[in-house]
Amino acid sequence: KRVEVGPDGHGINPALVDERAAGVVRTLKEAGFEAYIVGGAVRDLLLGLKPKDFDVATNATPEQVKGLFRRAFIIGRRFRIVHVVYGRGREHEVIEVSTFRANVDNTAAEQVSGNERTAKGQLATMKHAVDASGRVLRDNVWGPQDEDAARRDFTVNAMYYDPESRVVVDYHGGIPDAQKKLLRMIGDPATRYREDPVRIIRAVRFGAKLSALGFKLEPKTAKPLVETLSLLGDVPQSRLFDEMLKLLQTGHALASVEQLRKLGVGKGIYPLLDLVVERADQPFIKAALQDTDRRVGEGKPVAPSFLLACVLWQDVLSGWNARLARKEHPFPALQDAIDEVFDARVGDVSGRGKLGADMREIWMMQPRFDKRSGNSPISLAGQPRFRAGFDFLRLRADVGEVSEELADWWQQFSIADDGARESMVHELR
Ligand code: ATP
Ligand code: MG
Repeated sequence: KRVEVGPDGHGINPALVDERAAGVVRTLKEAGFEAYIVGGAVRDLLLGLKPKDFDVATNATPEQVKGLFRRAFIIGRRFRIVHVVYGRGREHEVIEVSTFRANVDNTAAEQVSGNERTAKGQLATMKHAVDASGRVLRDNVWGPQDEDAARRDFTVNAMYYDPESRVVVDYHGGIPDAQKKLLRMIGDPATRYREDPVRIIRAVRFGAKLSALGFKLEPKTAKPLVETLSLLGDVPQSRLFDEMLKLLQTGHALASVEQLRKLGVGKGIYPLLDLVVERADQPFIKAALQDTDRRVGEGKPVAPSFLLACVLWQDVLSGWNARLARKEHPFPALQDAIDEVFDARVGDVSGRGKLGADMREIWMMQPRFDKRSGNSPISLAGQPRFRAGFDFLRLRADVGEVSEELADWWQQFSIADDGARESMVHELR
């Protein structure tokens, strides 16, 4: 049933609504289409949070949307959406416009749930319900708004907001759930996790993100998480990796670890994530997670390479120490230790050239911080990735792995002018 709630019933602060998103809605409506702000933005608005991005849903097709805006691009070959772009460079903003999708072909999903007992049969049916990128194929057929709402994940993620009339359209009790601080999957949770196992990770992510506001997963939504976890084996590694980064790099890394443990899925989503959860209480890793959350909170950029370099540092160190004990030369020994860690722990991700290269650079810089004579400090401080390497050193100092004096010295050195740098090197002798 379609419920419409006016401003008094939801209390959304219009000042939090992005003007460009509201403009996109207005343009679409003036052209005779239905259009709303949708999804996470409505959820955040309803909770008094400032949404980080705005999505719009409409009954216009991607071609029709594209025709209405000066800079609009249809993206995605199979799951086509439109990016309406405003501004340029750092200031640019993208409003994502998607066409209402139909909730067709439930048979595939039902077949899957009927196959619960045999793991093999389960996988076979999943194959035709899911394409190579792990998305449910039925997600790409246009349909009416109520069906668009039904194929979304959580009730609080399935509301529509018209910024002109200030009406929220709610089909699944998202408003009362938001008031009860309940994260509830639409429909039968186990079926929905089977349709798209990434929803398992999304449950953890929103559970973590909203835990600060007192949200809890509805027990029925939480219960099938463990039993459907193995279905993530069918999801491409790259998508799992991306989802892991959303857990760890969107400002609630510590809360995510807590949720993963609480929900019983601390192991089994993705090998690197298992490791993060396993090591999250170690001072060095905890400091890295805390640091990441703080930076995101302050609106500063965070690099996945830095956090992963922290998580895997102990493996690099032990491999390196073993080689040093065998009297190998320090630098090649470190290189080899790093190669070994990439092979053993990182797997597919090492194919992501830049990420792996950045991790390697952070690690390879560490022994160079010990050399504070001659030209080494100048050349190290001139490295493009010096900052990341230094931040890593600082974290090591914070947990007592190297001296505070060393980290302080480099801090000084990095901001000193040439003359001061020379005397800093000189004074050490
Ligand atoms: P965030 O604030 O992290 O961006 P969000 O709710 O906007 O959260 P998105 O991943 O941007 O999350 O997705 C936008 C919307 O699309 C969601 O609110 C939800 O309605 C729908 N959605 C996204 N992924 C799925 C999925 N796997 N299954 C069902 N619905 C989904
Ligand atoms: Mg979003």
